[in-house]
Amino acid sequence: MKYVLVTGGVVSGLGKGVTASSIGLLLKACGLRITSIKIDPYLNTDAGTMSPSEHGEVFVLDDGGESVIDKERKGDYLGKTVQVVPHITDAIQEWIERVAMIPVDGKPGPADVCVIELGGTIGDIESMPFIEALGQFSYRVGTGNFCLIHVSLVPVLNVVGEQKTKPTQHSVRGLRGLGLTPHILACRMKLAQFCHVTEENIITLYDVPNIWHIPSLLRDQKAHEAILKVLNLLGKAGQPALEEWTSRTAICDKLHEPVHIAMVGKYTGLSDSYLSVLKALVHASVFNRKKLFVDWVPASDLEDATAKENPDAYKAAWKLLKGADGILVPGGFGDRGVEGKILAAKYARENKIPFLGICLGMQIAVIEFARSVIGLQDANSTEFDPNTRNPCVIFMPEGSKTRMGGTMRLGSRRTFFQVLNCKSAKLYGSKSFIDERHRHRYEVNPDMVACLEKAGLSFAGKDETGRRMEIIELPNHPYFIGVQFHPEFKSRPGKPSPLFLGLIAAACGELDAV
Ligand code: GLN
Repeated sequence: MKYVLVTGGVVSGLGKGVTASSIGLLLKACGLRITSIKIDPYLNTDAGTMSPSEHGEVFVLDDGGESVIDKERKGDYLGKTVQVVPHITDAIQEWIERVAMIPVDGKPGPADVCVIELGGTIGDIESMPFIEALGQFSYRVGTGNFCLIHVSLVPVLNVVGEQKTKPTQHSVRGLRGLGLTPHILACRMKLAQFCHVTEENIITLYDVPNIWHIPSLLRDQKAHEAILKVLNLLGKAGQPALEEWTSRTAICDKLHEPVHIAMVGKYTGLSDSYLSVLKALVHASVFNRKKLFVDWVPASDLEDATAKENPDAYKAAWKLLKGADGILVPGGFGDRGVEGKILAAKYARENKIPFLGICLGMQIAVIEFARSVIGLQDANSTEFDPNTRNPCVIFMPEGSKTRMGGTMRLGSRRTFFQVLNCKSAKLYGSKSFIDERHRHRYEVNPDMVACLEKAGLSFAGKDETGRRMEIIELPNHPYFIGVQFHPEFKSRPGKPSPLFLGLIAAACGELDAV
């Protein structure tokens, strides 16, 4: 296994993540099998409970992990003092190796190269144990198996137009002082003979209109050759085959036919909270050759209370919702805006507007159906009204009621299609089951399923027990789908998530063509 570590210097927000993933893509295009790790230096065991308004979206992977705290509790350290060095640093290294060895692309055996992105900036106290661990790690895996790429800022002072290299020099010095030597510098400006890194190992990362241009920008500067040389892989990997990628990027640059999707959510001011949903919408729109416009609708602005308190906001929200070609209600927690989301689902159902409800988005669609179609006025989720007489969404029996941490149903779970010719099954290529990622504590009340079904709601997908509802569909609607899982996490630029593809196609009146 070979490792590429991407670190960041000077300031955050330089595009370390985009650089790391573009490098992964470029090496993949050279015929190598790539896996990746993102290290975020925070102490939470339960990343699943972190607020998206502070950290952006909580991205969910297929599996979970084990922490040093768990090990200590289990008694694995036999009463010894648990220290940063060696316990934490050893645990970090073991964890990196374990994750790096997980087979990728559905094929047996580990990948050729693991790209690791270390969050934060060099010098942060938070990342010190990780830097120390990675320093030891680079020594252990040895020269030729480890390539460090340092992404840094070279500011230009406008008055004189001069490039200032000092901040980058300092951050490289800081990195060296911590035992790590960068092989490649990725800067915003071209520099020669700098920080003892040879000229061909300095890459310029300038701003581009669309991040999909970054892999070819790296290729044009022969970044792959520089990396492959450090990793002793030159000659073993092919030339990067990026044609498909660049042609998709070119298509994306020229899109003009619009599609408007209304996103009805709580954190509409913070698009990072729904990053994967947004990306999945982009993937599906490019695939459908449409220019995507996301119209953010703050869910609570759709509610009657806003009509009285802030009529302008109320009117604006409804105008956006009614003007959209499709409506998406993403996942969420807490009761703010829930009634507005229910109204959005009602509007989509009654007016036959394409609708996709994800996780909470599916739960509110079930509540809306129970209220409007069956007439159960107080139908609700026990998350929002613990005393409702018609709990159509309930706390999952196996979760703890007293603790928030560790109670989430997280990661990949299997969904079995119940109706093979329904829209969702067809979009997934008529497979009998699919694996998608989850992140929830509540679920459709299995005891109310028969009643909902009798009224016309189809439960198109269920888990292996048949008691947990995974997909809902309205048969007599152009596109009304709700899913308990999060399809956005598995959407990729060249492989859009089927349900997003369906939403965009339906929003453009082209579902039959998909
Ligand atoms: N709050 C809901 C639950 O816990 C929905 C979660 C979500 O949308 N991710 O089930």
